[in-house]
Amino acid sequence: MSGHVAVVGLGPGDPRYLTPEADAALAGAEALYGYGPYLDRVPPRVGQARYASDNREECARAATALGRAAQGERVAIVSGGDPGVFAMAAAVCEEIESGPESWRALDVTIVPGITAMLAVAARIGAPLGHDFCALSLSDNLKPWELIERRLDAAAGAGFVIALYNPVSRARPWQFGNALALLRRHLPPSTPMVFGHAVGRPDERVEVTTLDAADGKNADMATLVIVGSRETRVVARPGKSPLVYTPRATVEVNA
Ligand code: SAH
Repeated sequence: MSGHVAVVGLGPGDPRYLTPEADAALAGAEALYGYGPYLDRVPPRVGQARYASDNREECARAATALGRAAQGERVAIVSGGDPGVFAMAAAVCEEIESGPESWRALDVTIVPGITAMLAVAARIGAPLGHDFCALSLSDNLKPWELIERRLDAAAGAGFVIALYNPVSRARPWQFGNALALLRRHLPPSTPMVFGHAVGRPDERVEVTTLDAADGKNADMATLVIVGSRETRVVARPGKSPLVYTPRATVEVNA
């Protein structure tokens, strides 16, 4: 009998952002695997086991869950946001590719979730309204030099940039370096959005500019959006501004 693996996106935090498909996948699992704080967001269900592991143990977690599924269990592996964005779905695919042949016979369902950049963008307007890209500033799985090269290329090509994992305790200097690099390409007035813990009780969304931005604005629960030359801020009396990137770009060198 072949088991089943669901890799489930929980969204950014607010239960209203959990899709009905994700809810059904969680309800149908015999065992849940994930990083502890993500598992804590899933209401307990009678008879369902849960196995919390550390944030950095993604491959080991995937391998354990796949091993259980190969024994016929219905398992769900949870991720914050979307499981395919800097998260567990790729780790599961890596383990299936390098693991025992029997794992290729498993039923695998990837259940999408609302990723942080979409939740932050929706809070503030439409900063991702035109061409954009997403980068992780974490150098756990790639060299910092490559991150700098990609940031340079993205800013130089005029993309709005969503930055995941902007800082960590281990590398407090990196975000400052990233800002310095962006300032070489973009005007000081370029809008920036810092979305902290969106969808959670301590949510905070700040709009600032590239020259005023500072490493202190970001922590591990912050998603940063760096505008392009087109991104605009619409001030509104008594309301937070709307940050948006218009749908049309006329300048070839924008
Ligand atoms: N799979 C997740 C991303 C995991 S990487 C997703 O799709 O959202 C972890 C990074 O995501 C954090 O460092 C932060 O940059 C961002 N993030 C995750 N949840 C967030 C939230 N609720 N608010 C703001 N940023 C968040």
